[in-house]
Amino acid sequence: MALYVQKYGGTSVGSVERIEAVAEKVKGFRERGDDIVVVVSAMSGETNRLIGLANEIQEHPDKREMDVLVSTGEQVTIALLAMALKKRGVDARSYTGGQVRILTDSAHTKARIQDIETTRMRADLEAGRVVIVAGFQGVDDHGNITTLGRGGSDTTGVALAAALKADECQIYTDVDGVYTTDPRVVAGAQRLDKITFEEMLEMASLGSKVLQIRSVEFAGKYHVPLRVLSSFQDGPGTLITIEDDETVEKPIISGIAFNRDEAKLTVMGVPDIPGVASRILGPISRENIEVDMIVQNVSADQTTDFTFTVHRNDFERAQNILEQVVTELGARGCSGNSKIAKVSIVGVGMRSHAGVASKMFDALAAENINIQMISTSEIKVSVVIAEKYMELAVRALHTAFNLDKGETVCE
Ligand code: ADP
Ligand code: ASP
Ligand code: MG
Repeated sequence: MALYVQKYGGTSVGSVERIEAVAEKVKGFRERGDDIVVVVSAMSGETNRLIGLANEIQEHPDKREMDVLVSTGEQVTIALLAMALKKRGVDARSYTGGQVRILTDSAHTKARIQDIETTRMRADLEAGRVVIVAGFQGVDDHGNITTLGRGGSDTTGVALAAALKADECQIYTDVDGVYTTDPRVVAGAQRLDKITFEEMLEMASLGSKVLQIRSVEFAGKYHVPLRVLSSFQDGPGTLITIEDDETVEKPIISGIAFNRDEAKLTVMGVPDIPGVASRILGPISRENIEVDMIVQNVSADQTTDFTFTVHRNDFERAQNILEQVVTELGARGCSGNSKIAKVSIVGVGMRSHAGVASKMFDALAAENINIQMISTSEIKVSVVIAEKYMELAVRALHTAFNLDKGETVCE
């Protein structure tokens, strides 16, 4: 008998039939004697629909009210799932984030969980009930409803598992695990039996939306055993592992992530003197715009070009700021490009293998894909390329690093 926190995503509860199927699955676990806490997302498309309604009123609505609005999606699914379980003779109770006291800070639309009150959940579990909690939402110190950022139900699941010291946090979704890359883009992608937290964190940060970044951070920090599985079919899924067994041979590359959410900005002809980077990026960060990759060229004539990337939603704002900066710095001008994509290879095996980056660059060159920017860390190499070549690049790299189905991704 174990305690599992099971999170079911939007597609997994996307219709009444799907909710009934989840209820059947949960009933199966209860019959085997396991204690179950379920976290559900809103029905697929619902959160987008709600955001769309708000945007019909205002482009940037008040964030507190936005949270009151978007948190309703999950309130629908918790109640429906509780009904479907009770219909099957399985005792269950649904709770909003505020009711179980998932306490967060007050950063509306991207709040962070600070504390979780477990008394009520424990009492229900002891009474033999399935506890159903609305994902993605919490409450701040003042009783305001907050939400945790898109994809935040993953984080609710992991945080509840940590607070309840569950045996495993199971993230049920519409694919049967974490793949070498998005299986919707590369048909030959393979499911991984295991992936380390470090790799999963990089994959999530670099664009693989299968898990919200914060959920992986949380699981790593609190040592929550985490597994990604399909709610549509049975199978072992993918275990996110902490231990890094030195004796086992690792694949050089575990996965390929990609992201078309960024845009690139360049300030041209900047005087090559101390303090320039801070004079360019200072005003950007003061506007709360996050900068990802940065490249500064070597100067030829005492001036240099300075390029960086931001989220595409911040592109226009960043461009407006730079126009001001260009005048102040006496730079030659600025340019921007939002039709870019970032493609990254990730793997802990990189640490012990030389030549990974050059193999990546060779594979891209063979497809005539120009690399605009490069950034590396110990376990990843990222490149910025033209958006139109993104899928070609991912497929080429998937093949070059022997990740296609039929090849062995060693463990
Ligand atoms: P949910 O609604 O269950 O939270 P998401 O849409 O957030 O599901 O995440 C699952 C999706 O993540 C899959 O349908 C898949 O297209 C995408 N995905 C991206 N990269 C990967 C990867 N490396 N492995 C598996 N799925 C991935
Ligand atoms: N419903 C929220 C979203 O669509 C949270 C989640 O699904 O995890 O982002
Ligand atoms: Mg998700």
